[in-house]
Amino acid sequence: MRDFLLNDADRAFRADVREFLQRELLPRAADIEDRQDWDAVKHVVRALGAAGYLKLMFPDLYRGKLEHPGLTHATILSEEASYINYAFETTIATALSCAYPLHRHASERLRDAYLSPILEGTAIGAICVTEPNVGSDSAGMETRIDFDAARNEWVINGFKRYISNASVADVYIVYGLTDEGMTAVAVPKSANGIGFPRNYTFMGRRGCIVGEVKFDNCRVPADHLLGERGGGFRIMRGMFNFERAILGGSGLGVARSAFDIATAHAQTRTSFGQPLGCKQLIWDKIAQMSWRIDASELITYRATKMYDAGADGKALMKEAAMAKLVATETANYCANETVQILGGDGITKEYGRAEQLYRDARALTIVGGTSEVAKYLIAGRDLPDIRITL
Ligand SMILES: Cc1cc2nc3c(=O)[nH]c(=O)nc-3n(C[C@H](O)[C@H](O)[C@H](O)COP(=O)(O)OP(=O)(O)OC[C@H]3O[C@@H](n4cnc5c(N)ncnc54)[C@H](O)[C@@H]3O)c2cc1C
Repeated sequence: MRDFLLNDADRAFRADVREFLQRELLPRAADIEDRQDWDAVKHVVRALGAAGYLKLMFPDLYRGKLEHPGLTHATILSEEASYINYAFETTIATALSCAYPLHRHASERLRDAYLSPILEGTAIGAICVTEPNVGSDSAGMETRIDFDAARNEWVINGFKRYISNASVADVYIVYGLTDEGMTAVAVPKSANGIGFPRNYTFMGRRGCIVGEVKFDNCRVPADHLLGERGGGFRIMRGMFNFERAILGGSGLGVARSAFDIATAHAQTRTSFGQPLGCKQLIWDKIAQMSWRIDASELITYRATKMYDAGADGKALMKEAAMAKLVATETANYCANETVQILGGDGITKEYGRAEQLYRDARALTIVGGTSEVAKYLIAGRDLPDIRITL
């Protein structure tokens, strides 16, 4: 049974959000994929914001139909958006990752200036962690954030790469080192000293802009600090937990989309006198996809339900990592097998989105912490008596 862990209100929400995305996102999905149409992305982000969907993670700000909005609903939104277009969904996920530290750790003034427009869909956010010498090993960060007491400002120097929404975002959550350790600050696009040297071309996720961000004596006022000096790692850990659960939703959406294409083809394509799905080598692939999707769904919504029930960051780390690992590996599995089931149709653009899903899925096991990092977080919990290292 699908949606086993969801209640009636959650299921009704899924129906609402699906109808909304079919109206707003589906007609624009081809332009996002084929023309990398940023205006189309922005249009749907604005529509989501106006409908209140970007506030799901923040019950104190949410004013919609749900009595208990939370991560479960944000993840349903991600799942349904990824089902239609994963590149678009990355813009929502990044907006939420940017909004989360602003909501929890920013001053009232900063929240008014940056958080509200993001949640209303009128501004875009970005997260800057990754650097040329720092990916999985975020502790080795080289970006400096120094305090200039004379001018009461933070001064940022460093280089970030692979940043989703680089150059199109209005506000950047930047992680770097102060003398006290990893620290987070908010930097508006208008700040002096921020630059965007270039964007990348990726095999998938077309329409999501990803690029470099350079900070060259970039200055922001003292109140742009998030939380405390040296408190950045704790903020990042909280962000990764919910980001990984949401990525579980993204994986699930991509996997389901591929599965629907594969099952339709297996029942309609005739080969050797029978529908393709009658052949054991094909129905085996369908069954393998099916159980992996169900397992992903159960593990993903277990993590979101735990989060919504108030599990603390440390307690949630394993379940969030598992959601990300299982659902994103499942997305790759399903996209790959779907291409195979479709044969030549699977690798052309002539037959639906199989080839796009295959290209899009590949990023899922890398972003937001790789599959290897997720396994480390899981095994770290399962082997409490020894210290395992990456
Ligand atoms: C499309 C896209 C969008 C992104 N968006 C953002 C963003 O918005 N903000 C941001 O900050 N970053 C972003 N990233 C960066 C992403 O988070 C990193 O790519 C990811 O964390 C992995 O880092 P890396 O690419 O440097 O790989 P590395 O850390 O160099 O790892 C390379 C490989 O080695 C493995 N590995 C590393 N160490 C070990 C070990 N000790 N044991 C075993 N295996 C290991 C990894 O799992 C991986 O498979 C994005 C990346 C992509 C591709």
